[in-house]
Amino acid sequence: MAEELTSQLSKKLKEWLLELASRLNWRIDRVLDSYRLAQRSVIIDVRDDGNSIGGIRLRVPSESRDDVLYYVSVGPYGAKCTCEASVIRGNACKHIVAGLIMWNMLSVIKYGKWLDLNELTWLKPSQDNE
Ligand SMILES: [Zn+2]
Repeated sequence: MAEELTSQLSKKLKEWLLELASRLNWRIDRVLDSYRLAQRSVIIDVRDDGNSIGGIRLRVPSESRDDVLYYVSVGPYGAKCTCEASVIRGNACKHIVAGLIMWNMLSVIKYGKWLDLNELTWLKPSQDNE
C-alpha cells in the first residue's frame, strides 16, 4: 500500500516526505498515514502574507473514528494538536504531521516554495504509539 502510494507521488514530494520521516525518526508508512489524514482534513485558517504561507490551522479526523476531530495548528515556531498523545507528551503526533504536509502543499501550490524542515526547530524525533 505504501509503495503504491509513493509511486504516485512526484519525486520531490517523495524526497520531502522521506526527509520528514527521518527528522521525526518515523517509518515512512507512518508519515504516509499522516499524508492520508491530510487529504481528509479541513483547513480552518491560513496565515498568508502575500509572499509565503506562515502557518495554518486545520481540523484533522481521527484515524479510527470519523466522528472524532482534532484541531491542529502548525507554524514556524511550533505546533499544537488537541489529541491526548500530543497534549500529554508534547510530541509531534500524526495530526501535526498531517498539518505540516498540508502546509507544505499550500505553500508549493501557491508560491512554489517547499517548506524547509531545517527551519522548523521544534520538529524533533518523537515516539507516538497511537
Ligand atoms: Zn494529534
